Amino acid sequence: MNSTARSGLFGDLDVDVELDAPIGAHTWFGIGGRADALIRPHNEAALVTLIERCNATQTPVRILGKGANLLVADDGVDGVVIRLDHEDFTRLRFNTDGEVNRVLAMGGADLFKSVQELQRQGLAGFAQMTGIPGSIGGAVRMNAGGSHGSIGDCIQSVTCLDHTGQRLVYDRHQLEFDYRSSNLPDHLILSAVLELEPEDPVRLRTQVLEIFAAKKASQPMADQSAGCVFRNPRIDDERISAGKLIDEAGCKGERIGGAQVSMSHANFITTAPEATASHVQALMQHVRDRVEQEKGVILEPEVVIWSRTEQGAS
Ligand SMILES: Cc1cc2nc3c(=O)[nH]c(=O)nc-3n(C[C@H](O)[C@H](O)[C@H](O)COP(=O)(O)OP(=O)(O)OC[C@H]3O[C@@H](n4cnc5c(N)ncnc54)[C@H](O)[C@@H]3O)c2cc1C
Repeated sequence: MNSTARSGLFGDLDVDVELDAPIGAHTWFGIGGRADALIRPHNEAALVTLIERCNATQTPVRILGKGANLLVADDGVDGVVIRLDHEDFTRLRFNTDGEVNRVLAMGGADLFKSVQELQRQGLAGFAQMTGIPGSIGGAVRMNAGGSHGSIGDCIQSVTCLDHTGQRLVYDRHQLEFDYRSSNLPDHLILSAVLELEPEDPVRLRTQVLEIFAAKKASQPMADQSAGCVFRNPRIDDERISAGKLIDEAGCKGERIGGAQVSMSHANFITTAPEATASHVQALMQHVRDRVEQEKGVILEPEVVIWSRTEQGAS
């Protein structure tokens, strides 16, 4: 991206800009390349204008949440990466629509902090997100969750910006959430309204601590990873644990370069400081091949991979 293109896109906007930004370092894997520009809008007006201009100039746009489900290729990505971490995009607003049990959660809000804040406010229905790193936008996009439920369980509506910058609201009856997926189009998620239930904060705290302890016991949460690398496949109408298949195929502990199939949860790939994105991709391919050979099942990635050959949303 040359300097004329840059100043035309965001030179006059209320945004923070980092050129040739090391976005791989912003992911939980902590590896991968750079983006032409990482842009942090200060407010919705700047965000909308930026998206309009990217659309008009056919500049690729990608949205970076907390990078907890993301692998950035070693040679990075072209175009613009947008991060919603200014305070306008990270707030929770209580008493939405005059309802004490409705909360407006902005797309850049942190899941850990949201779980804590909602627990303190005595609002139940979000504890299933305990111990899941990420942002509201990233979680809604893939209906993040686990054995205690998914974020879609409490979503009342979602507000998005499409690739032209137009604001669209999807109500509950238009939304379908399924296992690690939703029917939301590939738009920027600006916010979601959560429908929750009043509950005793002390009882909620106990629930949150129990879920956190269970996650800590079953996942390598302190290591660098992107959570589950593969989706649990559906076989004969039943979801089968990808981790179990990977374990039974003998892949636990296997490594390529600085990437390793976790010993504590076979569906996690963890990275050491010397790891590259190519190591992770090669290990993913190796695991897929082994599971296909040994178990006759083709695993599909859950982790999102950004590269120069995969185009952004605009
Ligand atoms: C230790 C660990 C444990 C995990 N455990 C779980 C678990 O139990 N259950 C589970 O479901 N997941 C789990 N994950 C994966 C991850 O937490 C979730 O996928 C989470 O939803 C990712 O959110 P994010 O903001 O980090 O998204 P990112 O990783 O930043 O992005 C992922 C995708 O979402 C898109 N995106 C992000 N924000 C927006 C937005 N505002 N609008 C539109 N698109 C957006 C990105 O463009 C990208 O395509 C785990 C990850 C780790 C590292």
